Amino acid sequence: MSEQSVTRATFNEVMLPNYAPLEMIPVRAQGSHVWDQAGREYIDFSGGIAVNCLGHCHPDLVAAIQEQSQKLWHVSNIWTNEPALELAQRLVNATFADKVFFCNSGAEANEAALKLARRYAVDNYGEDKDQIIAFKQSFHGRTLFTVTAGGQTSYSDGFGPKPGAIDHAIYNDLESLEALISDKTCAVIMEPMLGEGGVTPATKAFIEGVRALCDKYNALLIFDEVQTGFGRTGYLYMYQAYGVVPDILSTAKSLGGGFPIGGILTTDEIGKHLKFGTHGTTYGGNPLACAVANAAFDIINTDAVLSGIEQREQMFREHLQGINDKYQVFSEIRGQGLLLGAVVNEAHQGQAREFMAAAMEQGLMCLVAGADVVRFAPALVIDPQDIAEGFARFEKAVARVVAAD
Ligand SMILES: *Cc1c(COP(=O)(O)O)cnc(C)c1O
Repeated sequence: MSEQSVTRATFNEVMLPNYAPLEMIPVRAQGSHVWDQAGREYIDFSGGIAVNCLGHCHPDLVAAIQEQSQKLWHVSNIWTNEPALELAQRLVNATFADKVFFCNSGAEANEAALKLARRYAVDNYGEDKDQIIAFKQSFHGRTLFTVTAGGQTSYSDGFGPKPGAIDHAIYNDLESLEALISDKTCAVIMEPMLGEGGVTPATKAFIEGVRALCDKYNALLIFDEVQTGFGRTGYLYMYQAYGVVPDILSTAKSLGGGFPIGGILTTDEIGKHLKFGTHGTTYGGNPLACAVANAAFDIINTDAVLSGIEQREQMFREHLQGINDKYQVFSEIRGQGLLLGAVVNEAHQGQAREFMAAAMEQGLMCLVAGADVVRFAPALVIDPQDIAEGFARFEKAVARVVAAD
């Protein structure tokens, strides 16, 4: 079979229609450059949705996967393995956590976090303390439990009965949480910055207020750091930027630098309730995934890389500001580190997708977060030259969208 024997049309023939992929099919990539079937080159400001923290095919990750692939791929959790133990040690040493559980994705990490919170409440306070409070506009994954926790009914409706005792407050609105929380609340789950929901950071007052309310009602605070974690905001985890410590933290996306892995971090006191046999996964913490994550960790968790993220954020902001000064298309540039959102102004309401499509035509991959936010989540080590070239292309895309109006 030749390379071109599969095309975008093949997708419609043999794949379920739950995705609507763009026309070009990437076949190869290096750093922040991607090439499609026709050999056309793109600059990648999408990072595989905040996953490829070291860009594509980083030599250290390639070496880690090559080395581990010749030793041991998978044994199941009947046995433990060295890469998983080493990754757990790294995460425990670098965070508030005493204990770690590994799985394969963000949804699975949140599923584990929510199950653990329920178990902890049942064990300590009885069956009645079961309420989970999440926030509208948030995103926690696509299992039925996590999609119900996520605040978007368009994702959670139409699948029959939902898991119960989940309520939604309004993000960055402490009063709305105060109105719902009580002694029946077992956990509050939140993203420190809404990712899919629009690249909206929590205010410091809000996140501190949520912590205080959780303490008052003996509810666990779960930070979903699937998108914000592992260096994305210039901190290993974003809770460190706020100085507000959660009880359970979920992590995935960048953790594996492109290889699927997720996990939760928690304390001894809480973690001990996930007793032997209460939860599990066949692949979770497999040696191959953990070997890649260990290599990614050793690069990301350094002062050089973390402070470099802040410098790159400034470059992104300056470029976006410069383009906006010329074309007046954005009302706000928000976010932190290399998770940034350009909010389209009233004149371009609902057009984020058009900016993304126009960028693709100019050879730049970016993302959206809802109808009004163009989202950027590039490699955390993206070359400044690639940033400049990417924005030269993005400026052309913006000019096209403006001219088409
Ligand atoms: C992407 C994401 C998830 C889901 O992760 P998957 O790996 O797709 O299951 C959960 N929470 C947040 C905040 C995310 O951005």
